[in-house]
Amino acid sequence: MTLLVHGNAELRLAMSGLGSNICLVPTMGALHDGHGTLIDAAKDFAGKDGCVVVSDFVNPKQFGQEEDFEKYPRNLESDLKIAHSAGAHILWAPSVEDVYPGHWPLDIESDPRFEILEGRTRPGHFVAVIEVVTRLFDIVQPNFAVFGEKDFQQLIFISEMAQKRDPQIGILAVPTKRAADGLALSSRNVYLSSDQRNVAHLIPDALKKAVQLASKGATQFEIKKTVTEMINTSDLIEIDYLEILSNDLTELKTGVVGRILIAVKLGNTRLIDNMPILLQDKNDSN
Ligand code: AMP
Repeated sequence: MTLLVHGNAELRLAMSGLGSNICLVPTMGALHDGHGTLIDAAKDFAGKDGCVVVSDFVNPKQFGQEEDFEKYPRNLESDLKIAHSAGAHILWAPSVEDVYPGHWPLDIESDPRFEILEGRTRPGHFVAVIEVVTRLFDIVQPNFAVFGEKDFQQLIFISEMAQKRDPQIGILAVPTKRAADGLALSSRNVYLSSDQRNVAHLIPDALKKAVQLASKGATQFEIKKTVTEMINTSDLIEIDYLEILSNDLTELKTGVVGRILIAVKLGNTRLIDNMPILLQDKNDSN
């Protein structure tokens, strides 16, 4: 059974009766099978003495003024069902007051990488994400926490923050769960019209093609050109950014695994995706 709790005291009480290997799975709710894979990984990793806490909190601070905070999908009843079938012990849905009791914001050191990719159109987003995860870590005090590679830039910043501030907390990264046509599962997919949903497979198709081209020695320029052409075969999708970067979000050299990262807009819906990529030196490929 999954216990649904709200306040911090209620959370601590629920946790005290459960296993001591505490694993936190931070989410903004609107749970889907992608979140389910995070909960599965948490359970496997935590073992018999595990206590898997799924936080369900739509953090207002990480949404810009023009973004979808008000209409972001919320359904606690369905979240509880999904958390339960994935085997979470606790679904914790705190209020803003539980998470931010007054002494916030934190003083987070700025980093030029906060301004690239997602940060380019979402000023302040990553400071807010680091802040909320820091706060969730302080309240839950987990042994480890699970994040999806789907939000790769977020995963990198949280891993770095944890290493600096909470090195006792292990960070587990889980690969992106996809629909049958390859589209990365996302709470925002519900916004897509059927026409938009029908062309959305072009996003993973183009990334897969990029990975293939890279393995044959294509240059970044050639890869980006092909991805752009593939996406542009539909006039329903518009590329926001397309970057090939190292795993610490700096320049990627050949012979080292990095990431190809994309954000697109389908109407008003913004979706992101990424895949690992290895750029070959032309002379090494055949
Ligand atoms: P969200 O609720 O969308 O903020 O996501 C909560 C966590 O679930 C984050 O660590 C995401 O990276 C992860 N996540 C979201 N979608 C997927 C997916 N399709 N596959 C794996 N993890 C995901």
